[in-house]
Amino acid sequence: MGKAREPAPPNQPSVPPVGRTVTSSIEKNAFEKIEQLIAQDPAGRNIAPLVQPGHLEAAARTLTRAGRVLITTGFFVPSVEAGETDGPPGAKALGAALETLGIPAVYVTDAWNAPYLRAIGAKPLHLYEPGLLERLAPSHLISVERVGRAEDGRYYNMRGEDISPYTEPVDELFLQAAEQGLKSIGIGDGGNEIGMGGCAEQVRAHVANGQTIACVVATDYLIACGVSNWGAYGLVCALSLLNSRDLLPSGKALRTEVEAIVASGGVDGVTRRNEPTVDGQPLQASTHLLAQLRALL
Ligand code: CA
Repeated sequence: MGKAREPAPPNQPSVPPVGRTVTSSIEKNAFEKIEQLIAQDPAGRNIAPLVQPGHLEAAARTLTRAGRVLITTGFFVPSVEAGETDGPPGAKALGAALETLGIPAVYVTDAWNAPYLRAIGAKPLHLYEPGLLERLAPSHLISVERVGRAEDGRYYNMRGEDISPYTEPVDELFLQAAEQGLKSIGIGDGGNEIGMGGCAEQVRAHVANGQTIACVVATDYLIACGVSNWGAYGLVCALSLLNSRDLLPSGKALRTEVEAIVASGGVDGVTRRNEPTVDGQPLQASTHLLAQLRALL
C-alpha cells in the first residue's frame, strides 16, 4: 500500500497520515522532551519566548504526507567570506531521513553557500532563481538556518549587519508557497531566519538587535531552537517516532560533515573561525544532543 501524499488526488478518499493517527501519552511525552532538548540555549540568545509548543510534532506529521520536499539552508558570513557550519548538516539529516522514508528531497541555496552543501553530498542541489518553485513542484518546504527578510526588506545577521549583497532571496519561495497553500516549516535559532515571521514581535522584544533583524517571513510551523542543526535533528527524531525507526544520523556522520564544511572553508557562525565547532559549541555538544535524542526512540 502506498503512502498518503499531499496534495491528494482530487477524486480519492482522504487517507490518514502515515504512522499512528492517535498520539499516545507516551509519544506525546517524547515529543515534548524533544522540544525541551532542542530548546537548550547554549549561545544565550533568549530562545525560550520564541518556542511554539506543539509545532515540532505537527511539522513531523505533515512531512509524513509529503510528495516532494524542498530544503533550503546556508548562512553567509561576509566578514570572513565563508558559509557557516550551522545549517547544512541539519538540512542533510532531514533530506536523508525523508529519502529513507521514500520521500524525495531537493536542496536549494545560493552560490555563496553551495560549496558547503556540495562538501557534504547534499543533492540534488539547485541554486535559487525565479521560477524555481514551479520547476521543482514541492509539496512541502523546510528552511534550516536560512536568513529571511526583515521588515525593511533587507537581510541581517545576528550582529545587525546588512548581508543583503551576499544573500539571494530564497525566502521568496516561502512567500510564493504560502500563496499556493504549500506546507512550510522554518527552523532557526536567532530570530532572523525564515519562519520567524510567526513570532516577529517576540524576536523584537527578546532578542539582541531584534528590532533590526526580526524576519517577517512566516511558515506554517516554526521550530525555534538553541542551534539550528539541533532543531533539524529534533525534527528527524520526531519523524523517527512517527515511523518507528531510527532516522537520525550517527555521531560519526555529524562529525564528518562539520569537518568537511570546515575543510571547504566554512566557519563557525559565532566565532567566525575556520574550525569544527557549531555556534561556538564543540562537536561533543552536538553528538551529545544526538545521543539524548536517540535515547527517546
Ligand atoms: Ca545558528
